[in-house]
Amino acid sequence: MVNPVLKRALETWGEQAQMMMVVEEMSELMKEILKNVNRHKENINQIIEETADVEIMLEQLKENYHIEEKVKDYKAEKIKMIEQRLNEWDKNNKAV
Ligand SMILES: [Mg+2]
Repeated sequence: MVNPVLKRALETWGEQAQMMMVVEEMSELMKEILKNVNRHKENINQIIEETADVEIMLEQLKENYHIEEKVKDYKAEKIKMIEQRLNEWDKNNKAV
């Protein structure tokens, strides 16, 4: 269930503005990740802030497209697939 404040933000500022904010916040997080990984910058506080921003905007995206349940189901399936791949990886990379 979407946070009521975030639902209100979507209703107040509208689909177009909020979906553009999703993209904007994702690009801010990408930038901080790149600084951290590529330039070894100590920017964990920026990563925390931008991760929170992205999560806030993803909640609004799910509300906007009414896809919260489907995303949850898909995510559960993907996690199962990752687990299978990890199990395969472990089996193939065990020290002999
Ligand atoms: Mg931001």
